[in-house]
Amino acid sequence: MSLAKRVFELQQVDHLIQTVRKQLDEIDGRLSRNEALEQARNNLSAAEKDLAGLEKQYKDLDAEAEMLRANIGQINDKLYGGKIKNPRELLGYEQEGNLLKANLSKKDDTLLELMEKIESGKVAVRKLKETSRSAETAWQVEKGELQVQAEKLKVELAASENKRIEILNSVDPGTLSIYEGVRARKGTAVVKVEQGRCLGCRVTLSISEQQRVRGNAIVLCDNCGRIMYLS
Ligand SMILES: [Zn+2]
Repeated sequence: MSLAKRVFELQQVDHLIQTVRKQLDEIDGRLSRNEALEQARNNLSAAEKDLAGLEKQYKDLDAEAEMLRANIGQINDKLYGGKIKNPRELLGYEQEGNLLKANLSKKDDTLLELMEKIESGKVAVRKLKETSRSAETAWQVEKGELQVQAEKLKVELAASENKRIEILNSVDPGTLSIYEGVRARKGTAVVKVEQGRCLGCRVTLSISEQQRVRGNAIVLCDNCGRIMYLS
């Protein structure tokens, strides 16, 4: 096998290694976070927080209403217990009782509204829990598939790396350094020659260049500087 052909094969292996590494990086990126699941979890925790806030509000207001009811009860005892006979005093208690009742009625209305909000909050939390659970299930499946894919790619990568070492054993350091240099500058370092033309730049080679390419030495295209390989 000619030296140029070995370098050409090295390029193919390098290209494969690069592609597989890129795919592995992409998989790593996808494995590191799942936006759909994060979003579902965030929505759920926000809804749970809202619901807890409403329940706390309800509990506090309910305690206040309870206290008002007790106060109203005490006033009613005074009004109807028969112990207090003074009309002005009775009137005072009646007015106070009316104020308390009006206040209680407002609180009861608010409690009712809160109760409705709590009910719909509970429905929302239930739905978001379901969404979160199905996002979790979907993610487990996706993760499993990605891990299988990654394992296959790692096997492929190891094989390509072994192949690379094998090829390097038959390429001298000088040639390797030319290859690396052209690769760094041009991306594609080794190009085929077909019908007397360099496929890197499409320029037709001179007769002497064509003769040199047929030999075993590494020949660079005069025009584009790539290593030429006659297949
Ligand atoms: Zn060229």
